Amino acid sequence: MTARLVLLGPPGAGKGTQAARLSDCLGVPAISTGDIFRANVADATELGRRAQRYMDAGEYVPDEVTNAMVRARLAEPDTEQGFLLDGYPRTAEQVRELDAMLDEQGRRLDAVVEITAAADVVIARLLGRAREQGRADDTDVVIRRRLEVYREQTEPLTSLYAERDLLVQVDGIGEVDEVTERIVGALQPLLV
Ligand code: AMP
Repeated sequence: MTARLVLLGPPGAGKGTQAARLSDCLGVPAISTGDIFRANVADATELGRRAQRYMDAGEYVPDEVTNAMVRARLAEPDTEQGFLLDGYPRTAEQVRELDAMLDEQGRRLDAVVEITAAADVVIARLLGRAREQGRADDTDVVIRRRLEVYREQTEPLTSLYAERDLLVQVDGIGEVDEVTERIVGALQPLLV
């Protein structure tokens, strides 16, 4: 079985938590562009240096930087049986680039899971995370900007994937286990 999946959803919807669990269930690597950027910032790499000011402001890192990073990651052998992209694609240009990468490899996506959650819920979650983890981009102003950027640039991708019959919408409100069960249940018929 292969599972080539994309996880969509606003910041704070629980994508990272669910990606880790789904990765275990499905035996494919979870690839979080946000995590890769944060690791590069922490290690003070050239990529981290290019990404940091956008991340700190709640803006998207330029497509060419992000696309090149994902292209390199998807060329790794551990993605052969599948992958779970958490936080990519986020722009129409990234969708085009992902299509091109997969075409070149003779692969295609199996499903795009959108984890839905209302704005007030995700803002409360992100402010809680800010207190616990102290992430630089979890301040009130930056959180609001990240949500705005999501609505403007990423939410429209859901209709694009719906037109391709790939979109699976799952309610992200509830206990973590419950949400995982919903996602696995929704994916089961698609991953045979
Ligand atoms: P995340 O942890 O997924 O919320 O990502 C944290 C930050 O990393 C985002 O606010 C962006 O600045 C940057 N980032 C992550 N993924 C992408 C992407 N696909 N395109 C552009 N910027 C990204």
